[in-house]
Amino acid sequence: MESVELVQAMKAIVFDSDNGPHLQGDYPQPSPASGEVLVAVETIGICRTDLEILKGYMGFTGVIGHEFVGTVIGGPDEWMSRRVVAEINCNCGVCEFCTTGLGNHCPSRSVTGIAGRDGVMAQQAVVPLVNLHKLPDSLTNDRGVFAEPLAAVLRIGQQVDLDGANVVVLGDGRLGQLAARAIKGPAAALLMVGKHAGKLQLASAVGIDTRGLKEFTPDRSADVVVDATGSPEGFELALRTVRPLGTVVLKSTFAVGGGMNLAGVVIDEITVVGSRCGPFAPAIEALDTGKIEVTDLISCRFDLDHGIEALHAASDGRNIKVLIDVEQ
Ligand SMILES: [Zn+2]
Ligand SMILES: [Zn+2]
Repeated sequence: MESVELVQAMKAIVFDSDNGPHLQGDYPQPSPASGEVLVAVETIGICRTDLEILKGYMGFTGVIGHEFVGTVIGGPDEWMSRRVVAEINCNCGVCEFCTTGLGNHCPSRSVTGIAGRDGVMAQQAVVPLVNLHKLPDSLTNDRGVFAEPLAAVLRIGQQVDLDGANVVVLGDGRLGQLAARAIKGPAAALLMVGKHAGKLQLASAVGIDTRGLKEFTPDRSADVVVDATGSPEGFELALRTVRPLGTVVLKSTFAVGGGMNLAGVVIDEITVVGSRCGPFAPAIEALDTGKIEVTDLISCRFDLDHGIEALHAASDGRNIKVLIDVEQ
């Protein structure tokens, strides 16, 4: 009676250093431990971190992916059948960091699809209950899947005073686009600098001033520069763009570090702020109210069977957000 047995194998996009990324049709179905829920994954977003993992970032092995919308199919009653997103840092809950509101920096954390824990590029995934956020019915999967990366750019406003600031965002990719949209409200002036005319056009269509990299002359006048280029050269350009005593926010992680020259940081007394994960609640609200528009950033979509093609598409500089739709 095969048809009534529980599914014990599932499709998943798996990475290991010997085989690279590959579709596995018989990956073991995950089973939630105490304090975890089982989620049927519906929509997955691909981000640069996923692509960096394929180059060896974090030495990760397992199911990749961390941006998703899904429905809870195993867990406490009040969560069953709820459409959810989930924060990615899975913390111990008891250490000095976790008990003082700094759980994202828990030294023994695992991170969904990034470090020590299987991710969401699969038919099903397991996530900690405390990481879940319900999505309002009015918020579509295509918008909700941006909750994690939007939270990450809202983090900038928690770290740096953007009110009335003159801000330059370097990079017109996934994170640069979201950062500019989030910063446009509080900033007095905002300029996005990028290499791709089509991507800059998307930003100017939502009222953001843009400049092509070739036409951009850095003049050390910006109060805050957000480096979302994803390349080591971005930091050097940021140091030539920020004013003395200004702030550079780093949003890029690299599989391989560049030989950075930090003399400018000292000479111009620049504050360098590393910025990673941010608050989900305001991200979900901004997506739900339409305060921050995101669906124009979706370049193309694939089903899970074509997840490898989706990864290729996401690494094509002409595309911004690539989504994967999962059928159960
Ligand atoms: Zn991400
Ligand atoms: Zn901890």
